[in-house]
Amino acid sequence: MAQIVKRAFKFRFYPTPEQADELARTFGCVRLVYNKALQERTRAYRSEGRKVSYVESSAALTEWKRTEELDFLAEVSSVPLQQALRHLQTAFANFFAQRAGYPAFKSRKKSRLSAEYTRSAFRYHDGRLTLAKMDAPLNIVWSRPLPEGADPSTVTVSKDAAGRWSVSILCEDTVRPLDPTSDMVGVDAGITALVTLSRPIPGVTDDDGKVTNPRHERADRRRLARAQRIPARKEKGSANRGRARVKVARVHARITDRRRDVLHKLTTAIVRENQVVVIEDLTVRNLVKNHSLARAISDASWRQMRTMLEYKAQWYGRELLVVDRWFPSSKLCSACGALQRFMPLNVRDWVCACGVVHDRDVNAAKNILAAGLAER
Ligand SMILES: [Zn+2]
Repeated sequence: MAQIVKRAFKFRFYPTPEQADELARTFGCVRLVYNKALQERTRAYRSEGRKVSYVESSAALTEWKRTEELDFLAEVSSVPLQQALRHLQTAFANFFAQRAGYPAFKSRKKSRLSAEYTRSAFRYHDGRLTLAKMDAPLNIVWSRPLPEGADPSTVTVSKDAAGRWSVSILCEDTVRPLDPTSDMVGVDAGITALVTLSRPIPGVTDDDGKVTNPRHERADRRRLARAQRIPARKEKGSANRGRARVKVARVHARITDRRRDVLHKLTTAIVRENQVVVIEDLTVRNLVKNHSLARAISDASWRQMRTMLEYKAQWYGRELLVVDRWFPSSKLCSACGALQRFMPLNVRDWVCACGVVHDRDVNAAKNILAAGLAER
């Protein structure tokens, strides 16, 4: 059965100087409103043990706009400010439900610059998106089409540390389950290979079932490591240090963009080709601490990949199983079940006593598949 899902479509855009200025002011106001409301809620909670509601915060915002020192809040679109209060409300709901820690202030340097516009604060017509307080539509690079007859409900504008602007457009989209298949696959997360599948998918993995890291990434990682050392040497607050920071952010953005593209293609192929997909729960594996850059990037992509597999499996009528038990997937022979006593990390291929020759990662992926099916 077809289902309607909410789907975000993200694009780059190039603002005019006036638009950039308007957005920069809006980002500043969003951050200020969020922090001020958080401060007030914290005070009420600490001193009176009282929970402040969204409605109260919203009423307070109206008051702030009337004061002399904060009257500039009335100059930007009120919707992103209201949305900031809604986000704060969600952050508190998560805190009270013990799903998250206490909400944190948005710092000038580290927090993401973004503003969220709901329907009343933008117009979308014939591929032209115009935000409140702006005369001209945004100059968006439409890298792919929005769904036919798209009626966006939310638009989020952001600027990343590399200085790039993007707009994320939330639309309803119709997804239909794929035809059932009897194929199943286990997925092993790696560092040298991005992932290894228990069976290859032609055109997506190599003949063994491995997906390598995106091209150029090795060079980019070296660049990143080099660029990261520079800001520390420059004087704090200097223009050079600022430039060095942007450089780091650019290389980082390029790596994560390429990764995301690769992960989208990969997860779509995995879900398309298999009825059942089994992955490992990496929170278990993270007990093994390793702070290398390669590790950090691979952990981030693994989380991203898991999220993609979760929603795509749901969209297309597939089953995703997560093996959350620590088991020796590399040391176990997937053919006979014999357990090897030693399996140093540098061993890539090995021969079991039963005579089967294993690729370490493919064998692990096969064991993950078997463990998932056994737990089901
Ligand atoms: Zn064996």
